[in-house]
Amino acid sequence: MPSFDLSGKTALVTGANTGLGQAIAIALAGAGADIVAAGRSSAAETGKAVAGAGRAFHEVTADFGEPEAPARAIEDAVTAAGQVDILVNNAGIIRRNDALEFTASDWDDVMNVNIRSVFFLCQAFARHVTGRGANGEVRGKIINIASMLSYQGGIRVASYTSSKSGVTGLTRLLANEWAAKGINVNAIAPGYFATNNTEALREDKSRNAEILGRIPAGHWGDPSDLGGAAVFLAASASDYVHGTTLPVDGGWLAR
Ligand code: NAP
Repeated sequence: MPSFDLSGKTALVTGANTGLGQAIAIALAGAGADIVAAGRSSAAETGKAVAGAGRAFHEVTADFGEPEAPARAIEDAVTAAGQVDILVNNAGIIRRNDALEFTASDWDDVMNVNIRSVFFLCQAFARHVTGRGANGEVRGKIINIASMLSYQGGIRVASYTSSKSGVTGLTRLLANEWAAKGINVNAIAPGYFATNNTEALREDKSRNAEILGRIPAGHWGDPSDLGGAAVFLAASASDYVHGTTLPVDGGWLAR
């Protein structure tokens, strides 16, 4: 279907070396996009899969805990790939502790990566996209990665819940400002997926059973389950979709 075809587009995916970011990068490449992986660890494995799909692959090094990293990552991506059409803000971290004990560094580290860097990546991307649009149609797609804790409170994850609740608000705000400029800003809220991020939960027998018991689909998500939603929000099929957060959660929120 042409409206799901990403040929000729370049997607920048943060944290594409592993987990959900890797699966999203591979899905976008499968739909025809070239990929720029931005992160602090080598994404060579992702690069192999992208090359296997016949698409170009570039890597830019960025630690999104650092204040200047977002703008620099967009600049480096444009230098490497010529232009960027799709931005997937996937890189994220989580820290667990009782709210009474929660430290300032567990607050700041999470907020810096999960929400501060997301805003400044969006800003630098939007400047790039609008800056090149003088004589033609501007079209940019932003996909932010939210969470079930964009809807629910969670427990012992104060900064994570705050950051992911912020992601849905920021997605709506940026959609309001940029929809008329030809930039779609949307989010995906993954449910419970088997990645490094959720290893501690899966290893805790009772939490694991509790979580599985609440997922109508009856199993943890596989990262590849996110591919279809990512391709949709990156492609022209979603040109009139703005400011929404699409849960991909095996039915968790319906429970
Ligand atoms: P993951 O396997 O831990 O991957 C996290 C990614 O973020 C890795 O590529 C990691 O790079 C990168 N990252 C972390 N801190 C970074 C930094 N300072 N600079 C650059 N990159 C950094 O976890 P995941 O489950 O795939 O998570 C991806 C996103 O989905 C996160 O935003 C997470 O909150 C969200 N999410 C996950 C789930 C789930 O069930 N798994 C559910 C809802 C939302 P390194 O490998 O170098 O650390």
